Amino acid sequence: MNYSEQLWKQYKSLGISREVFEFGSRIEDELKPRFEEFDRTEEYNQLKVLRAMQKCRVSAECFHSSNGYGYNDLGRETLEAVYAECFHGEDALVRPQITCGTHALSLALFSNLRPGDELLSPVGKPYDTLEEVIGIRPSKGSLAEYGISYRQADLKKDGSFDWEGIKHAIHEKTKLVTIQRSKGYAARPTLSVERIGELIAFIKKIKPDIICMVDNCYGEFVEEREPLEAGADLIVGSLIKNPGGGLAPVGGYLAGKKECVEQAAYRLTSPGLGKEVGASLGVMQPFYQGLFLAPAVVNGALKGAVFAANVYERLGFGVLPNGTESRHDIIQSVTFQNPDAMKAFCKGIQAAAPVDSYVSPEPWAMPGYDSDVIMAAGAFVQGSSIELSADGPLKPPYSVFFQGGLTWSHAKFGIFMSLQKLYEQKLVNRDLIC
Ligand SMILES: *Cc1c(COP(=O)(O)O)cnc(C)c1O
Repeated sequence: MNYSEQLWKQYKSLGISREVFEFGSRIEDELKPRFEEFDRTEEYNQLKVLRAMQKCRVSAECFHSSNGYGYNDLGRETLEAVYAECFHGEDALVRPQITCGTHALSLALFSNLRPGDELLSPVGKPYDTLEEVIGIRPSKGSLAEYGISYRQADLKKDGSFDWEGIKHAIHEKTKLVTIQRSKGYAARPTLSVERIGELIAFIKKIKPDIICMVDNCYGEFVEEREPLEAGADLIVGSLIKNPGGGLAPVGGYLAGKKECVEQAAYRLTSPGLGKEVGASLGVMQPFYQGLFLAPAVVNGALKGAVFAANVYERLGFGVLPNGTESRHDIIQSVTFQNPDAMKAFCKGIQAAAPVDSYVSPEPWAMPGYDSDVIMAAGAFVQGSSIELSADGPLKPPYSVFFQGGLTWSHAKFGIFMSLQKLYEQKLVNRDLIC
């Protein structure tokens, strides 16, 4: 096997048993060819980011901080050009004033829809927090309160698009379609950029002026193409996920058609002001450097996800995606059918963290979610899920969603530790490990 005794001693000193270490190491060895594919995607995307930075003439001056109104902020303007270039948009809005992914999506929706318009999700129920933005669950300030209606076409049981249902759901009021790339907390496949492209082509054929927006959270840099290259008008995401590369301390982005981005800018700041204001407050350097590192960080996270899938699949748990499927986001779900196993997994991830490793995660009610959620994260940036983290609603079938790891070594250690906790509590079949 491909490890040294020295390495084993390091793991042992952190509480990993020999059985868990050897079991995991065997699986890692088998995954080498798969990991090489991820390395090639990283290489491709690294060059993409680099080219965008060079083309937009990123300079040391871009890292200067602005305050107050933030007029003529070179760093902010250049960064938005870099995002537009990198993701193939006409324009982009990349701001620390966008507080999170939900905010970025909310901004995109509220700014591009008007009373009387209808929003359509052709890929089933959107991410939990968007239910309140849309008003699927009644909420103060929702789109529904502003007279914007919502329609949904669910995916078919096998995860395919319901072409007929989508066609019937589109009518003259349909203004914007929201396509969630990642599965989020749902038990459905994540969409590849290719499938997103097929869906958009179908929709545009029925009604060419529909704005096709993609919730790109967790998808950035997983593939070589991004949704704007497949026909999307607007992509939206969080900087404390993939594109922030673990360094962005806050923020969200939108990129795509100039008109769509402009609408969002006027909504974020004010009509008349738009993109011209918004102090960068010293976060430009980590925004740039995070984007620069993002392809490598996403690679590590992908390896962690595939490793987790193979480890837990081998032990008889439900995993989505499975150990061999192609990847279109960095999320891995493991289904335990048992609250204790779910908690043990999360405790392991927490115990593997560089920050707050000594605390124990407990299920808790969270704003935006309709059941208790357990979250394991010992992150440098609060709630950052490009860092090693695991979470899930504590309800049957007790699925945990695992993601991130700023480095592959850390993601691997996190999986080792999660398995160690299950092993110690006799929540896994020991015969399968030894
Ligand atoms: C994380 C996520 C969101 C919401 O982002 P927050 O930063 O948690 O508000 C929306 N959609 C998807 C698919 C996500 O993964």
